[in-house]
Amino acid sequence: MKKKIAIFGSTGSIGKSLIDIINHDKDNFEIILLTTNKNYSNLLKQAKIFRVKNLIITDKKSYNIVRKKKLKINIYSNFNNLNKIFKNKIDYIMSAISGIDGLSPTFKSIKYTKKIAIANKESIICAWNILKRELNKNNTEFIPVDSEHFSIWSALPSKKIINNIDEIFITASGGPFYKMPISKFSKITIKDATNHPNWKMGKKISVDSSTMMNKVFEVIEAKNIFNLPISKLKILIHPESYLHAIIKFKNGLSNMIVHETDMKIPIYNSIYENKEYYKKIKNLNLNKLNKLNLKKPNLKKFPLVNILQKIPKKFSLYETILVSTNDTLVELFLKNKIDFISIPKVFKTLINLKEFRKYRNKVPTKIDQIIKLNKLVQLNIKSIYN
Ligand code: NDP
Ligand code: MG
Repeated sequence: MKKKIAIFGSTGSIGKSLIDIINHDKDNFEIILLTTNKNYSNLLKQAKIFRVKNLIITDKKSYNIVRKKKLKINIYSNFNNLNKIFKNKIDYIMSAISGIDGLSPTFKSIKYTKKIAIANKESIICAWNILKRELNKNNTEFIPVDSEHFSIWSALPSKKIINNIDEIFITASGGPFYKMPISKFSKITIKDATNHPNWKMGKKISVDSSTMMNKVFEVIEAKNIFNLPISKLKILIHPESYLHAIIKFKNGLSNMIVHETDMKIPIYNSIYENKEYYKKIKNLNLNKLNKLNLKKPNLKKFPLVNILQKIPKKFSLYETILVSTNDTLVELFLKNKIDFISIPKVFKTLINLKEFRKYRNKVPTKIDQIIKLNKLVQLNIKSIYN
C-alpha cells in the first residue's frame, strides 16, 4: 500500500529535499497535501509530478493567481480546513514551514497523522508542552528533523535510556566567524553573515548560525524533546560538522553520532524509519574522522550563548520572547537597520525589560497565546527602529 503523506512548506529547503527523496520512489507514496506561502509555480510543478489534489497557498496574491487558473485541484488559503483534506489519519506529515507561522499548522495537523516529522524549530521551542499533549492525546508519533536532535533521537532506542544520560554535547560548526578575530566583527556584512561554511540554508537560519543563536535554540529544543535540564546540555564547536552529538551515559559509555553534512539523512530516515539505505548519500569519510576538532565556544565572541544560563527551569512563554526578539533583530539586520554586533547587545537589553521578564513564569496553554505574544514583541521592537 502507498504511504499517504503531506508536506507543509514543500517549496522550502527541507520540503524540496523530501520531494527529491521520494521522487526516487514515487510508486510508494501518495501525497495528499502540499503547502507554500508564495512559491506557487514550484508548488504546481510538485503537484503535477505527484498528482496532488490538495494545495494550501497562504500568500493572498499567490492564492488568487492560482485560483484563477481553475485547475482541477482543491486550493485553500489557510490551514483551517484540514478536516476536509484528511478524511482518515494519514501516515506521515513533514512540518517544514519556517518561523512562528509554522506553529499553528503543526499543531492542527497532529490529529490527522500517525507520524509527524517536525523541522520547524519554533514549534518545539515555543509550544512543546502544547504539542506534546496533542501528540499523546492522538497517539501520534513524533520525530525531530533538526540534524543534532535527529542524531540523538536515533541513538536512543527506548525512552528509558533517557534516564541513563549523564550529559549531551551538541556540536556547532562555529559558523562563518569562528576564526575571525573579534576586532573585525564591527565590519561584518549581511553577505558575510549569510554565507555558512558547511550547510546551505535559508538567510535567517544562516544568520542565527553566525551569531550562534541557532545553537542556543537547539539546546532549548533538546531540553524540551529529551526532558533534560539545560545544565546537562553542552555546546561544542566542531568546525568539520561531521559529528552531530555526543551522548555521555552514566555507565561511562559515550555515543558519538557521525554523518555527512547533508540534511537529507535526517529527512530520509524520518520517513523510512531507518529501514533502508539511502543510496545517494556519500559514504562515511574515514579520513575526516582523523581530523575532528572539538572546542568550547568563545563566549566573548558569541555572547548570545550566555542566555542559556538565564532560561527558567520550567517551560514558559520566555522561550517565545527569545524567539521573537531574535527573529525581529535578525530581520532588522537583514534590512540593514542594525549592524551585526548590535544583535547580541540589543538582545540583552530587550530580554531584560520588565514587560518581557514577566513571561518567565507564564506557561502557554494555547497556540494563540504564543502567536499574540510574538506579534506584541515584534511590534514593540520595530517601533523603536522605524
Ligand atoms: P525555507 O525558508 O527554505 O522554507 C520555508 C517553507 O515554508 C517554504 O515552503 C515557504 O514558502 C513556507 N512558508 C514561509 N512562510 C510561511 C507562512 N507564513 N505561511 C505558510 N508557509 C510559509 O525554510 P527551511 O526549509 O530552511 O526550514 C524550515 C524549518 O526547518 C525552519 O523552522 C528551520 O529552522 C528548520 N530547520 C531547517 C534546516 C535546514 O537545513 N534548512 C535545519 C534544521 C531545521 P515559500 O517557498 O513561498 O517561501
Ligand atoms: Mg541543527
